[in-house]
Amino acid sequence: MLYEIAEKVIKLQNEGKKIIKFNVGDPDQSTNEEIVEAAFRAIKEGKTKYGSSSGEMVLREKLAEIYNVKAENVIITPGSKWAIFSSMFVSLKKGDNVVLPSPHWSAYELMAKQIGVETRLLKCELKSDWRIDVDKMNDLIDERTKMIILNNPNNPTSKVVNEKTVKEIAEISNEKDIKLLSDESYSAISFLKVKSILDFLGDHIYVNSFSKTFAMTGWRIGFTISNSELAEKLTRLNQITMTCVPQFIQEATLKALELRDRIAKDVKEVYRRRADLAYDILSRSKLEFSRPDSPFYLFPRCHGDSERLAFDMLDDGVAVTPGTAFGDYKEYFRIALTAPDKEVEEGLKKIAKVFS
Ligand code: PMP
Repeated sequence: MLYEIAEKVIKLQNEGKKIIKFNVGDPDQSTNEEIVEAAFRAIKEGKTKYGSSSGEMVLREKLAEIYNVKAENVIITPGSKWAIFSSMFVSLKKGDNVVLPSPHWSAYELMAKQIGVETRLLKCELKSDWRIDVDKMNDLIDERTKMIILNNPNNPTSKVVNEKTVKEIAEISNEKDIKLLSDESYSAISFLKVKSILDFLGDHIYVNSFSKTFAMTGWRIGFTISNSELAEKLTRLNQITMTCVPQFIQEATLKALELRDRIAKDVKEVYRRRADLAYDILSRSKLEFSRPDSPFYLFPRCHGDSERLAFDMLDDGVAVTPGTAFGDYKEYFRIALTAPDKEVEEGLKKIAKVFS
């Protein structure tokens, strides 16, 4: 459904209709000028050849320094999407299952399906502020469970998983020898501090992205941190598939890392402001929702059929994503606050009007 709405929006835009795009988590900001310049420079310097399938050593070393791990444990991937898919592909086999708190980013489930792996969803609820019930998670695990996927902060709820829960999930993974993959793509710009899986002992897979923090969605760069054996498997898979992330993109990413404190602070401020605005406007409507702990999303309950709502809202010039794109959440929909400020206000007011 996520992808259907996105296609419909593109079609309407091509027909000349103005659409406020709250349906995709693609930041409206441009990539920082210094990052762009670094890419140009690298291209001019000839960094346009095949590179290492593990990623350029200088970038792996920089990330290793930041995350306090060894460079051999860091693998550079074309976006975190490939980081997740390739980690699942080399760790799981047909007949295994993965346990995943829901609502969830649908790609995890679709990727699992692609490799013949069952997804067991742990349904979380708005009335308990989307908290993960670790006992219920435990009940879903059986001898075929080979991975738990944690998305912290979560897309679509923008909730941060509290430290106690992260610790308990890490313990389950260690005790039962189940891989824990933690996708922390939104962590650097979270309003609340995120307790990373890297802070807990265990053989975990950490995934992160440059897309969201640095408005670099189209550059396609992310990374994994894992044990060396898995890192080698990922390298071998990269060798026979995508070869490498372009060197000039990795060079620009080094610049992004240099600027990361400033950029993350600015991005956080923008989304904090938008989240506060959303809270003010939508609180005056009949929608029920939890206040976001991080950018970019809100996941309100509309008490109706959100698929229908999503298509009806397109007539009003606003694109949202129905909750069915994130699991069994027909009465919910996702708003991505990734449009320019003026459009954010206009779009939120239109949504509030529908639910006044
Ligand atoms: N993880 C989550 C939770 C996401 O929402 C997204 C993108 N929407 C990704 C990973 C993928 O990001 P990218 O491949 O651009 O790094």
